[in-house]
Amino acid sequence: MKPLGPIPGGFDAKDGELVIGGKTASQLVREAGETPLFVYSRDLIERRVADLRAAMPERLAIHYAMKANPYRPLLEFVADLVDGLDVASGGELAQAREAGYLPREISFAGPGKRDAELREAVRSGVTLNLESANEADRALEIGRQLRVAPRLAIRVNPAFELRGSGMKMGGGAKPFGVDENKVPELARRIVDAGADWRGFHIYSGSQALDAGAVIEMQANTLELAARLAGEAGVSVPHLNMGGGFGIPYFDRDAPLDIRAVGAALADRFAALPAVLAGTRFAIELGRYLVGEAGVYLTRIVDRKESHGTTFLVTDGGLHHQLAASGNFGTVVRRNYPVAIARCFGAQGEEEATIVGCLCTPLDRLADQARLPRAEVGDIVAVFCAGAYGASASPATFLGQGPAREMSV
Ligand SMILES: *Cc1c(COP(=O)(O)O)cnc(C)c1O
Repeated sequence: MKPLGPIPGGFDAKDGELVIGGKTASQLVREAGETPLFVYSRDLIERRVADLRAAMPERLAIHYAMKANPYRPLLEFVADLVDGLDVASGGELAQAREAGYLPREISFAGPGKRDAELREAVRSGVTLNLESANEADRALEIGRQLRVAPRLAIRVNPAFELRGSGMKMGGGAKPFGVDENKVPELARRIVDAGADWRGFHIYSGSQALDAGAVIEMQANTLELAARLAGEAGVSVPHLNMGGGFGIPYFDRDAPLDIRAVGAALADRFAALPAVLAGTRFAIELGRYLVGEAGVYLTRIVDRKESHGTTFLVTDGGLHHQLAASGNFGTVVRRNYPVAIARCFGAQGEEEATIVGCLCTPLDRLADQARLPRAEVGDIVAVFCAGAYGASASPATFLGQGPAREMSV
């Protein structure tokens, strides 16, 4: 037996069946037409943002990192809840504009920005978080051609890391950002060139559940921004402090204590160095805002035994929910929170392994899990599917096609 991850709060049962946003799983599937289906609860996202705002200092703006989930209705819904949007490609930028975000609310980070992407950002007035000196030169040149002052910030590759971070994005040799020691000279150059200087973007990791680690990272981030600004002799109109807030996916993961993080940040804000006194601060979060609000529903199409193991074979799989299969940045595969929708919250009766319909042994949604007895036709719910699900999975692999998506 292998444990399942903890089912996020906010999901109920009606006559024993899983309810999402007021509707049972089978109702949702009927409305969508068929499984596999991603369902995103607007209510849970709204509550998540409200709780976050209550815990964080008022001065801290909250941005959504749309790569976590770019589903259009969700993107539109989130627009009214957050203060800004972080995009990582020209494609995301176009989607964000179509969803109604204003250029002033958008910042664009990410390595390998092409000239056409830089041009669109400069033309529309989106903030570019520059990943290199070369990118800075190209953005400045495009600004000269278009006769607009590009809105530029430098993404810093900090020497520190986010402790216990799921995916390391800072510290040491990285394709992301400009090394600390090269930042002051570049910042001066950008300001001297007449750009609309925005400040710094310092992102050092993701999926942290330890408040102490986040508090330490935020303190390091503020210190670094102040030091770099001092060395460069530039102001910091805006500081994107990164994010890194994680969600519990696996057994024994405990939620991040956002009150502790918020209280420590409030203390820091109360004692800012002079160079940051007028700065506007933001954090950028993806999975923390939307991850636990999404559920992936997939139907059991076969039930079989092999050498003593019960396999529940579903019509979904890693082509929609790569992360739950353990193939998206995890070293050791562990079970996501999973339930049989018809008997949500019921005691486990048997050990079963839930697999997808792809012809590869990688396609496992739950391994040796203790579950109520499930039959062909039952719906399996995979939780924590609101971030890095549909858009982060190889939907064309094996010709199965994309999952349906809906928000409720
Ligand atoms: C991916 C990414 C995020 C979002 O990460 P989450 O773990 O989903 O919060 C934020 N900022 C940057 C720069 C990223 O690359």
